[in-house]
Amino acid sequence: MIHLDKFIRDIPNFPKEGIRFKDITPLLKDPRAVKEALTQLLELLGNHTIDKVVGIESRGFFFGMLIAQELGAGFVPMRKPGKLPYTTFSEKYELEYGFDALEIHEDAIANGERVLLHDDVLATGGTAKVACNLIEKLGGEIVQCNFLMELSFLNGIEKLQGYEVKSVLKY
Ligand code: 5GP
Repeated sequence: MIHLDKFIRDIPNFPKEGIRFKDITPLLKDPRAVKEALTQLLELLGNHTIDKVVGIESRGFFFGMLIAQELGAGFVPMRKPGKLPYTTFSEKYELEYGFDALEIHEDAIANGERVLLHDDVLATGGTAKVACNLIEKLGGEIVQCNFLMELSFLNGIEKLQGYEVKSVLKY
Protein backbone atom coordinates (compact mmCIF):
# COMPACT_ATOMS: atom_id res chain seq x y z
CA MET A 1 0.00 0.00 0.00
CA ILE A 2 1.44 3.36 -1.02
CA HIS A 3 0.66 6.33 1.22
CA LEU A 4 0.83 9.33 -1.08
CA ASP A 5 1.11 11.86 1.74
CA LYS A 6 4.60 10.45 2.45
CA PHE A 7 5.66 11.75 -0.96
CA ILE A 8 4.60 15.35 -0.30
CA ARG A 9 7.31 17.50 1.28
CA ASP A 10 6.57 20.68 3.27
CA ILE A 11 8.88 23.58 2.44
CA PRO A 12 8.64 26.44 4.95
CA ASN A 13 8.85 30.05 3.70
CA PHE A 14 8.59 29.23 -0.03
CA PRO A 15 8.09 31.09 -2.31
CA LYS A 16 7.62 33.77 0.36
CA GLU A 17 8.09 34.20 4.10
CA GLY A 18 5.14 32.67 5.96
CA ILE A 19 4.02 30.30 3.16
CA ARG A 20 4.35 26.58 3.79
CA PHE A 21 4.68 25.09 0.31
CA LYS A 22 3.62 21.53 -0.50
CA ASP A 23 6.34 20.14 -2.79
CA ILE A 24 5.20 17.31 -5.09
CA THR A 25 8.63 16.56 -6.63
CA PRO A 26 9.29 13.59 -4.27
CA LEU A 27 6.08 12.05 -5.64
CA LEU A 28 6.97 12.80 -9.28
CA LYS A 29 10.32 11.04 -9.01
CA ASP A 30 8.76 7.78 -7.81
CA PRO A 31 6.97 5.92 -10.63
CA ARG A 32 4.93 3.76 -8.23
CA ALA A 33 3.67 6.85 -6.41
CA VAL A 34 2.82 8.51 -9.73
CA LYS A 35 0.87 5.43 -10.78
CA GLU A 36 -1.01 5.36 -7.48
CA ALA A 37 -1.80 9.08 -7.66
CA LEU A 38 -3.06 8.67 -11.24
CA THR A 39 -5.24 5.70 -10.21
CA GLN A 40 -6.74 7.72 -7.36
CA LEU A 41 -7.37 10.76 -9.57
CA LEU A 42 -9.20 8.54 -12.08
CA GLU A 43 -11.22 6.99 -9.25
CA LEU A 44 -12.33 10.48 -8.19
CA LEU A 45 -13.71 11.01 -11.69
CA GLY A 46 -15.75 7.81 -11.66
CA ASN A 47 -17.73 7.13 -14.84
CA HIS A 48 -17.94 10.69 -16.13
CA THR A 49 -17.27 11.09 -19.86
CA ILE A 50 -14.62 13.73 -20.61
CA ASP A 51 -13.71 15.37 -23.93
CA LYS A 52 -10.91 17.65 -22.70
CA VAL A 53 -8.69 17.74 -19.64
CA VAL A 54 -7.46 21.23 -18.83
CA GLY A 55 -4.23 21.37 -16.78
CA ILE A 56 -3.09 24.57 -15.09
CA GLU A 57 0.54 25.71 -15.55
CA SER A 58 2.75 24.26 -14.56
CA ARG A 59 2.21 21.50 -12.03
CA GLY A 60 -1.24 20.78 -13.41
CA PHE A 61 0.42 19.57 -16.61
CA PHE A 62 2.07 16.51 -15.05
CA PHE A 63 -1.05 14.58 -14.09
CA GLY A 64 -3.39 16.47 -16.43
CA MET A 65 -1.68 14.93 -19.45
CA LEU A 66 -1.58 11.46 -17.87
CA ILE A 67 -5.28 11.63 -16.98
CA ALA A 68 -6.16 12.77 -20.52
CA GLN A 69 -4.25 9.84 -22.04
CA GLU A 70 -5.96 7.35 -19.73
CA LEU A 71 -9.39 8.77 -20.60
CA GLY A 72 -8.73 9.01 -24.33
CA ALA A 73 -9.45 12.74 -23.98
CA GLY A 74 -7.57 15.74 -25.36
CA PHE A 75 -5.23 17.75 -23.14
CA VAL A 76 -5.39 21.55 -22.98
CA PRO A 77 -2.71 23.66 -21.27
CA MET A 78 -3.95 26.70 -19.32
CA ARG A 79 -0.87 28.93 -19.18
CA LYS A 80 0.63 32.05 -17.64
CA PRO A 81 0.56 35.21 -19.82
CA GLY A 82 2.65 35.33 -22.98
CA LYS A 83 3.37 31.59 -23.19
CA LEU A 84 0.70 30.46 -25.65
CA PRO A 85 1.49 31.23 -29.31
CA TYR A 86 -2.02 31.41 -30.81
CA THR A 87 -4.94 33.77 -30.05
CA THR A 88 -5.92 33.52 -26.39
CA PHE A 89 -8.64 34.34 -23.88
CA SER A 90 -7.15 35.76 -20.70
CA GLU A 91 -8.25 36.58 -17.14
CA LYS A 92 -6.44 38.11 -14.16
CA TYR A 93 -6.57 36.63 -10.66
CA GLU A 94 -5.25 36.93 -7.13
CA LEU A 95 -2.95 34.18 -5.83
CA GLU A 96 -2.17 32.92 -2.32
CA TYR A 97 1.04 34.88 -2.82
CA GLY A 98 0.50 37.74 -5.33
CA PHE A 99 -1.28 38.40 -8.65
CA ASP A 100 -1.19 36.60 -11.96
CA ALA A 101 -3.26 35.81 -15.04
CA LEU A 102 -4.19 32.70 -16.99
CA GLU A 103 -4.62 32.21 -20.72
CA ILE A 104 -6.14 29.55 -22.95
CA HIS A 105 -6.18 29.21 -26.73
CA GLU A 106 -9.48 30.41 -28.16
CA ASP A 107 -9.93 27.12 -30.07
CA ALA A 108 -8.87 24.80 -27.22
CA ILE A 109 -12.39 23.72 -26.30
CA ALA A 110 -15.41 23.40 -28.56
CA ASN A 111 -18.87 24.55 -27.49
CA GLY A 112 -20.54 21.92 -25.29
CA GLU A 113 -17.44 19.82 -24.69
CA ARG A 114 -17.20 18.09 -21.31
CA VAL A 115 -14.18 19.29 -19.39
CA LEU A 116 -12.18 18.04 -16.43
CA LEU A 117 -10.12 20.78 -14.78
CA HIS A 118 -6.99 19.53 -13.04
CA ASP A 119 -4.28 21.15 -10.90
CA ASP A 120 -1.85 19.89 -8.28
CA VAL A 121 -3.08 22.06 -5.40
CA LEU A 122 -6.31 23.82 -4.48
CA ALA A 123 -5.28 26.61 -2.09
CA THR A 124 -7.43 29.79 -1.99
CA GLY A 125 -9.28 28.68 -5.13
CA GLY A 126 -8.54 31.88 -7.07
CA THR A 127 -6.60 30.09 -9.79
CA ALA A 128 -9.15 27.32 -10.31
CA LYS A 129 -12.05 29.80 -10.34
CA VAL A 130 -10.45 31.82 -13.14
CA ALA A 131 -9.68 28.62 -15.02
CA CYS A 132 -13.38 27.68 -14.75
CA ASN A 133 -14.40 31.12 -16.04
CA LEU A 134 -12.15 30.76 -19.09
CA ILE A 135 -13.36 27.21 -19.85
CA GLU A 136 -16.96 28.39 -19.70
CA LYS A 137 -16.17 31.43 -21.88
CA LEU A 138 -15.20 28.93 -24.57
CA GLY A 139 -18.47 27.03 -24.08
CA GLY A 140 -16.99 24.11 -22.13
CA GLU A 141 -19.08 22.27 -19.54
CA ILE A 142 -17.08 21.67 -16.36
CA VAL A 143 -17.76 18.14 -15.20
CA GLN A 144 -15.29 18.10 -12.29
CA CYS A 145 -12.38 20.03 -10.82
CA ASN A 146 -9.86 17.63 -9.36
CA PHE A 147 -6.65 18.16 -7.46
CA LEU A 148 -3.86 16.11 -6.01
CA MET A 149 -4.15 18.15 -2.83
CA GLU A 150 -6.60 20.51 -1.20
CA LEU A 151 -5.40 22.91 1.50
CA SER A 152 -8.77 22.83 3.28
CA PHE A 153 -7.87 25.53 5.80
CA LEU A 154 -7.72 28.08 2.92
CA ASN A 155 -11.32 27.25 2.00
CA GLY A 156 -10.79 27.33 -1.77
CA ILE A 157 -13.83 25.13 -2.20
CA GLU A 158 -16.03 28.14 -1.40
CA LYS A 159 -14.87 29.91 -4.58
CA LEU A 160 -15.80 26.79 -6.57
CA GLN A 161 -19.39 26.53 -5.40
CA GLY A 162 -21.59 24.92 -8.02
CA TYR A 163 -18.79 22.70 -9.32
CA GLU A 164 -17.94 19.15 -8.36
CA VAL A 165 -14.61 19.43 -6.53
CA LYS A 166 -12.50 16.39 -5.57
CA SER A 167 -8.99 15.92 -4.19
CA VAL A 168 -6.80 12.92 -3.49
CA LEU A 169 -5.24 14.42 -0.33
CA LYS A 170 -6.68 16.96 2.11
CA TYR A 171 -4.67 19.06 4.56
P1 5GP B 1 -4.84 29.24 -5.27
O1 5GP B 1 -5.18 30.08 -6.44
O2 5GP B 1 -5.86 28.13 -5.05
O3 5GP B 1 -4.58 30.01 -4.04
O4 5GP B 1 -3.45 28.54 -5.58
C1 5GP B 1 -3.36 27.37 -6.35
C2 5GP B 1 -2.25 27.48 -7.35
O5 5GP B 1 -1.04 27.84 -6.71
C3 5GP B 1 -2.04 26.15 -8.03
O6 5GP B 1 -1.75 26.36 -9.40
C4 5GP B 1 -0.85 25.56 -7.30
O7 5GP B 1 0.02 24.92 -8.20
C5 5GP B 1 -0.18 26.74 -6.62
N1 5GP B 1 0.06 26.50 -5.19
C6 5GP B 1 -0.38 27.22 -4.14
N2 5GP B 1 0.07 26.73 -2.99
C7 5GP B 1 0.79 25.64 -3.32
C8 5GP B 1 1.52 24.67 -2.54
O8 5GP B 1 1.62 24.70 -1.31
N3 5GP B 1 2.13 23.69 -3.24
C9 5GP B 1 2.07 23.61 -4.59
N4 5GP B 1 2.71 22.57 -5.19
N5 5GP B 1 1.42 24.49 -5.34
C10 5GP B 1 0.79 25.50 -4.71
